[in-house]
Amino acid sequence: MLNIALFGPPGAGKGTQSEFLIEKYKLFYISTGDILRKEIAEGSALGLEARSIIASGGLVSDEIIVQIIEKTIQSNPNANGFLFDGFPRTYIQAYILEGLMIKLNTALNCLISLEVDEETSVQRLLERGKQSGRMDDNEKVIRNRLHEYNEKTLPVLNFYKEKGNYFAVNGSQSIEQVSADIEVIVQNELSKSLMNIVLFGYPGSGRGSQGRALAKAYGLEYIATGPMLEQEIAKNTAIGKQISQLYESGKLVPDEIVVKLIEKKLEQSKGIKGFIFKGFPRTLVQSYILDGLLKKHGSSISKVIELEVPTLELISRLDARSKTDDCMPYDTSTEKIVKRLQEHENKTVPVINKYNHLHGVTKINGMGSFEEVNKRLSEEIENAFKTLTHN
Ligand code: AMP
Repeated sequence: MLNIALFGPPGAGKGTQSEFLIEKYKLFYISTGDILRKEIAEGSALGLEARSIIASGGLVSDEIIVQIIEKTIQSNPNANGFLFDGFPRTYIQAYILEGLMIKLNTALNCLISLEVDEETSVQRLLERGKQSGRMDDNEKVIRNRLHEYNEKTLPVLNFYKEKGNYFAVNGSQSIEQVSADIEVIVQNELSKSLMNIVLFGYPGSGRGSQGRALAKAYGLEYIATGPMLEQEIAKNTAIGKQISQLYESGKLVPDEIVVKLIEKKLEQSKGIKGFIFKGFPRTLVQSYILDGLLKKHGSSISKVIELEVPTLELISRLDARSKTDDCMPYDTSTEKIVKRLQEHENKTVPVINKYNHLHGVTKINGMGSFEEVNKRLSEEIENAFKTLTHN
């Protein structure tokens, strides 16, 4: 998700710049002022409560603000991200926003402050008042709104300065220049986001060869736990020796070992654009581990893809492979192949169902030539890059 708060005194140009941000980054716009005005127009109980406060230029209660924001966020669960205009308006509301973001398992990326001096604000609002018909766009109320801003809203900046995600833009420049300055900030934020793709599919679906090719094409790090374990054995490392012993005694490699290897890989991958995970997470437990690992790096899953191939085709592909030099030690007999397919069915399908519930899983038809399937997958990844947002 990409979550931005636009900040600045009344008349700074937040509404105007919002239009640009919504269009460019497909964000869901939440203007507490607009929502309140709508409630007033509809004559709702909430509107009635807010009306006189807005008319005088004061700030409505936090209770009302939390109610309207929570309702708006909840009715848009699939938003790419949110753009807040007019919120947070007090130091307390900054904490409220933190809490709301935690509930969505996300965070505010940045607060962009449009800075204009008081007289520019007043002039712009008086100008707007001629057309807007807003009951609070007259000089007396404007002065009170600015007073409220200086007293109660400006301290919000300190909250974000301390957090390090406050950015100032000179709001008295042309609209285009302000938009351009904002764009630089947002692009910089986006470049910090990792593209984390989890690629699922039954054994034989082509997820390994496709995963490797996609990682190469998009500059992502390919993380496949099976080959990582084999590499440790081949290099005869301490972990490798441990794995060999486990293999020999027919035991499963415990999560502790797999997690250590992934952790090492994540730490070594500074400056990388993101990861493609294949063969992990394989169990529900591992799906929680992956969330934790990514969270530690300030990141999360961006996209989950499942390659779909009918069972008979899978068996035929795995059987064909078992007769070539590419045969994996676990594909040498029909019995082993069936066991792997069952293992996927029992342990991994529940993980896919969980992700389907949480993020939605994109199903890709895995039938056809390598190139055909690769094209379908590439399209999805390109779409994901377009909407890539920080979590
Ligand atoms: P705006 O359209 O953002 O200028 O808001 C117009 C009026 O709505 C403000 O002067 C406040 O009375 C009220 N309002 C809007 N957002 C908030 C908020 N976050 N907290 C308190 N009052 C708000």
